[in-house]
Amino acid sequence: MPEARKMRLKSGDFVMANCNKKDNQQHFNSRCIHAGIQADPTNGALLTPIYQTTTYLQASVGNDKGYTYSRSANPTVKVLEDKLAQLEDAPSATCFSTGMAAISALALTVLKSGDHVICSDVVYGGTVRLLDQVLEKFGVTATYTDTSNPDNVKDAIQKNTKLIFIETPANPTLKLTDIAKVSQISKKHDLILAVDNTFLTAALQRPFDLGADIVIYSTTKYIDGHNATVGGAILAKDESLNEAFRYTRNCLGSIQSPFEAWLTLQGIKTLPLRLRQHSENAQAIARFLRTHHLVKNVYYPGLEDFPQYSLAKRQHQGAHGGIIAFELKGCIDVGVDFINAVALCKLAENLGAIETLITHPATMTHGPIDKKQREKIGIHDGLIRLSVGLEDPFDIINDLDQALDVVATKYKEVA
Ligand SMILES: *Cc1c(COP(=O)(O)O)cnc(C)c1O
Repeated sequence: MPEARKMRLKSGDFVMANCNKKDNQQHFNSRCIHAGIQADPTNGALLTPIYQTTTYLQASVGNDKGYTYSRSANPTVKVLEDKLAQLEDAPSATCFSTGMAAISALALTVLKSGDHVICSDVVYGGTVRLLDQVLEKFGVTATYTDTSNPDNVKDAIQKNTKLIFIETPANPTLKLTDIAKVSQISKKHDLILAVDNTFLTAALQRPFDLGADIVIYSTTKYIDGHNATVGGAILAKDESLNEAFRYTRNCLGSIQSPFEAWLTLQGIKTLPLRLRQHSENAQAIARFLRTHHLVKNVYYPGLEDFPQYSLAKRQHQGAHGGIIAFELKGCIDVGVDFINAVALCKLAENLGAIETLITHPATMTHGPIDKKQREKIGIHDGLIRLSVGLEDPFDIINDLDQALDVVATKYKEVA
C-alpha cells in the first residue's frame, strides 16, 4: 500500500471504510458497491436485473443452470446473498422474506424438541413471541437473562442448552453484550452462538471475528436503509449450516422476493456512508438530550458516560450507529404527549432508515409486556426510542427541543 494512503488510514478518517479488510479483498465501501455483482451477459446492464420469474428452462431433465423454481433460489436474491457473504466474510448467506422468517428458520434448523435456548433479556419483541408462543408448543424452552454480564450466560446453561441468541446493542435500551466473552463460554460448552447484528451491521460490528457462529439480520433496517422493504438474512461460518438454512427455507417457503432483493441491493451500496452519518447525527443529538433538564437519562454507546462505553469502543468499529434511547422525567403521559408533539420525527414502528422515527416502547413495541417485567429490563414509562435519520441534525434537535418545551409547559411540576 502506498505510504500516503497508510498515513491517511492512520489519521482515523477512514476507520469504517477500511474495517477488517482481509488480504486481496476490496475495502468495505467498495465491496458494498461491487461485491457479488456479475456483469449482465446479454446486454451489459450495470445494475442486476430483477429476475421476476417463477421457473427456469432446463435443457434436458436434470440439466438446469442452478435454478429450477424461485422458492428454492432466485438469481437476483443470489446476488444480494453473495454481497452479504462478502461483507461479513462468511462462505455464503441466505435471504428471507423478513428478519423474523430468518430467525424462525434458524430455530427450526438448529433446534429440536427438548432443546433449550439462552436469549438476551432485552431483545426484539418478535424473537420473544417466536420462542414463547410458537416454539414452546414444540417443546423448546428459553431462558431470558441479562447477557451484558457473561456470568449470567454461564449460569443459565442447562444440560439441554443448544443455542445462545444475543442481540447487541439491544432493542430498545442499547445494552451491550460482550460477544467475545460469550463466545468463549459458548465454545467451551459446545453451543451455537447467534448474534443479531441488525443495529450495527458488518460496517460497525464483526461478530464472526469475535467468535460468533451465526449472524442474523433484519435487512429491513440499515441494510436496506430506506424504509422500502422487509427482509432478513442468516450467515454461518460453517457452510453445512448455510446449506441447512437453505433447505429449511425451501421447506417453509420464506425466500425473499426478487424485487425486495433488488431494492436492498440499491440500499446497501451506501451502507457505510449512511451508518457514518446516522452515527454522527446520533452522537450530536445524544449530547443535546443529555443537557436538557426534562431528560433523566440518555442511552447511547458513543457517550463517554454510557455504562459500557469501553466495551462499545472495543466492540464497535469506530462509530455506534443511529439508535438512541432516552428517558423523560415524569409519568407515562409525559412520554405519550412528547411523542405526539414531535413533527419532523415521525411516529412509526421501524428503525434504521433515512427518516427519523420515534417510538414510545412502553405503549407501543413493549406495551404487551407486564409493567414490572418492563421496568426490570429498563423499559420505563418515560423511555423514548429514536432511530436517528439522515436529516440535518440541527433540524432533528430543533424538533425534539420544541416537543420538550410543549411537555415542559403542560407538566410544570416535572420541569
Ligand atoms: C426488526 C428486527 C427484527 C425482525 O425483523 P423483521 O424484518 O421486522 O421481521 C429482528 N431483530 C431486530 C434487532 C430487529 O430490529
